[in-house]
Amino acid sequence: MLVLLDRDGVINVDTPTGVVELEKFVLIPRSVDAIAMLTQAGFRIAVCTNQSSIGKGLLTPDMLGIIHGFMHRAVHAAGGQIDRVYFASESSDVPFKRRKPSPEMLLEAMAEFHADPARTPFVGDMITDMEAACAAGCPRILTRTGKGGALEAAGIPAAVAPVTVVDNLYAAAELICKEYR
Ligand SMILES: [Mg+2]
Repeated sequence: MLVLLDRDGVINVDTPTGVVELEKFVLIPRSVDAIAMLTQAGFRIAVCTNQSSIGKGLLTPDMLGIIHGFMHRAVHAAGGQIDRVYFASESSDVPFKRRKPSPEMLLEAMAEFHADPARTPFVGDMITDMEAACAAGCPRILTRTGKGGALEAAGIPAAVAPVTVVDNLYAAAELICKEYR
């Protein structure tokens, strides 16, 4: 069983300027515990993240690797494991091909882990996450962390329904353990 996670606003705090250095990568409380809960329940975890800062020249792939090294170590220390990170480096100034709302990263992850889309929930905080999950055929979970609270308040478009809204990744993990194991 596979669980797909967005990164910014779900695992770590979203920042308006983008997480372009390690100091800007701040974990959301209990997010690594949530991943550990899923790992220990037998789920594989893949992160699918847009990193348009690379395409804009604000973030180097090396620095992204350093940031992800830190994330992996934090998850390991809590007793969990992120099995793979997929990222889209294209700038948000160009029409999307790989980055969400394209389902490309999600489909790649499910092919690699031989996962059934209908049993592979995606946890994200933005409409583009919900759109990508919809297009990939994955159940959708929106966190109120990151931009999710604002999306919930504005009204989640019917086109991506049904969306299950939870407070944070920890609540998402509890729900997934209950409903998908
Ligand atoms: Mg996000």
